[in-house]
Amino acid sequence: MKSSTRELSKIEFIDFHTHKQIALPKTLSVISIELADLKNLVLKNSDYRFFSVGLHPWRLPANTNNLEKDLETLRQALQTSEVIAIGEVGLDRLLGPDMEIQKLYFTGALKLAKELNKTLIVHCVRCYPELLSMKKQFAPDVNMLVHAYNGKIEILKQLLKQDCYVSFAAAAPRRDDICGYIRQKPDCLQHVCLETDDSDVNIKDIFKHASQVFEMDISELKRIMKTNFISLFQDFNNV
Ligand SMILES: [Zn+2]
Repeated sequence: MKSSTRELSKIEFIDFHTHKQIALPKTLSVISIELADLKNLVLKNSDYRFFSVGLHPWRLPANTNNLEKDLETLRQALQTSEVIAIGEVGLDRLLGPDMEIQKLYFTGALKLAKELNKTLIVHCVRCYPELLSMKKQFAPDVNMLVHAYNGKIEILKQLLKQDCYVSFAAAAPRRDDICGYIRQKPDCLQHVCLETDDSDVNIKDIFKHASQVFEMDISELKRIMKTNFISLFQDFNNV
């Protein structure tokens, strides 16, 4: 019989978004898989590995001919128990196909997140007003994690105010404005996560650096990250 609570007590570090499939000791990872790559993979999760599957805006087609088919394939992938989130999906002003195409795919992902009660892991470049208004319109109550956040402090405040989660890779904890804001308002860490994305940085080092610049004990940071993981991926116990 499946235990009702996974052994998060054995976990020290959580990598909320990574493209690496390697397992590290005492580290829980949410591994991002592109839908098109899924057919070549066998996903096997464990207490330490979970998956998100999505359609990255950079890899979207230049037309909408396969939109319905792609979204149906995504829906099927999300119904496999190894997948706890939709991602990466999102909007990118600088790369990828026309914004109208990106918006149609992102709308589809939002609707699936709502229907299947999945968290969204979002890539967003210079499209924050669109991101927030589309979330409000199509899936106001879903959990959204804006990954590798390194934008303006004002937008960070807006995202947190709207109950979005943001995830910092190596860059944001090196920003004086972001670190200063967190030291001033440590409660906002309840919506902040940490990740390695596609870098070679170790998640341990990101935790260590973040605890220094946020001026907090690393054990407290680890505790907050576990709490955030549980609230973001509420059904992780059922996978
Ligand atoms: Zn990524």
